[in-house]
Amino acid sequence: MMAHVLAFASPLQGHLSPMLKLAEALAIEGLLVTFLTTEHVYHKLGGADAPLCRRRQGLRLRSVPDGLPADHPRLAGHLWEIMQSLRDTSGEKYRELLVPLGKEEPDGWPPVTCTIVDALLSFAAEELGIPVMAFRAGSPCSFWAYFFVPKLIEQGEIPFPEGCDMDELVRGVPGMEGLLRRRDLPGFCRAKDANDPIIQATMLTTQWNPRARGLIFNSVEPMDAAVLAHIRTICPVTYTVGPLHNLVRALDPAHIATAGLWRENQTCLAWLDAQPSKSVVFVSFGSLAVLSRAQLLEFWHGLLNTRHRFLWVIRPDLLDETGGPGDLPFELTQEAKEKGCLVVEWAPQQAVLAHPAVGAFLTHSGWNSTLESIGAGVPMVCWPLFFDQTLNSRYVSEVWRAGVDMKDTCDRATVEKMVRAVMEGEAAAELRRNAAALAEMVRSCVGEGGSSRVGLEKLVQAIRAMSS
Ligand code: UDP
Repeated sequence: MMAHVLAFASPLQGHLSPMLKLAEALAIEGLLVTFLTTEHVYHKLGGADAPLCRRRQGLRLRSVPDGLPADHPRLAGHLWEIMQSLRDTSGEKYRELLVPLGKEEPDGWPPVTCTIVDALLSFAAEELGIPVMAFRAGSPCSFWAYFFVPKLIEQGEIPFPEGCDMDELVRGVPGMEGLLRRRDLPGFCRAKDANDPIIQATMLTTQWNPRARGLIFNSVEPMDAAVLAHIRTICPVTYTVGPLHNLVRALDPAHIATAGLWRENQTCLAWLDAQPSKSVVFVSFGSLAVLSRAQLLEFWHGLLNTRHRFLWVIRPDLLDETGGPGDLPFELTQEAKEKGCLVVEWAPQQAVLAHPAVGAFLTHSGWNSTLESIGAGVPMVCWPLFFDQTLNSRYVSEVWRAGVDMKDTCDRATVEKMVRAVMEGEAAAELRRNAAALAEMVRSCVGEGGSSRVGLEKLVQAIRAMSS
């Protein structure tokens, strides 16, 4: 019987995008893939007639409702609400959908033989008699730290003691003893109460992973070797197939990137064409980060004070609701133009990072952004906010040495100093060399015989074995 995978992704840009790439990689390798997401995302991707499915034989889309009203904004500030609603409503719909998918369909698609579930959707895993694999959209280092959250709670490390030193090292995560400070622990560890719903949900979505048939990381084996060795002590069947966007491009050079949930402003590429090599700072805080007006202005002045040109993604929902008078993003867009810089609402980030005019990336250290920067050899200034970002930035600065960690501060003087540190002088040249070496390593991992290619082959073999 032909192998048929059902991939279920949460509706967040940072989860959807790598999982779609994984679905494409599996389809390129000859598997049939039904990609399941929410109705909202399904329509954004083009529905039954999605361009992606026209291009990629063996890949089709299906949807389940997320339980939110049609006119719900589904914006960054509503993340928790979206995930809660999805959790409450989709479980049953998912089960209903799996009944017909578990049998041969009239159009000849064979029954589903394996599911790959975004690890955020742990509820989905428990409902099936079909083998389940877990896909982690975040970094391996964060997974490992999440796994020890119950122990850290037991030890009294979380919640942080009142008035504690945030720079003190944390000892509860094996392998990270000399590296992890309190401030590097996942953002949710700063909650005042261990019963905080985000801490509880993260524990839940992590603890079931060792029971899955396999754990899949969007990660590169040599980069994460040390932490992967630890992870394999509890999840022996762990695959590394990243960075997925590089892998898919290596498998299919004619690959066309799938549009995300926002419309990309392509004109910024023409703007970059007119800039000198490595002269531009690209600034983007991903799809979920929300800044206060005061923070935005500190970044703004810090960047202007460096006198380097910048291209900044300011999403319409980037600012929180505690703003003052005036349409700040609009005003800044105008001022940026006068200063020779550019502000856009959403950029084709991978293409921007690959552009020779980009010299550094001021990022929130989301895992996709981190991998995209590493794959393009661009050094980073990291300003992490939550979840795995606080760990990713620590690894970028201390383990991979491809950038600097500006965690917990964004006053204009610090922003200026950090941006200069990755753009100017010998220290910046060193970071650039390290970043270039990492990009080279990524190229060889996704190339013929490379570790991510081998990881994908092993994954495909395992899925085929489940279908025979
Ligand atoms: N992204 C993009 N254009 C932008 C900003 C972000 O295409 O202007 C993409 C980026 O390339 C990445 C994803 O959005 O693939 C963000 O994922 P990440 O894990 O970095 O952060 P999250 O949004 O989950 O916080």
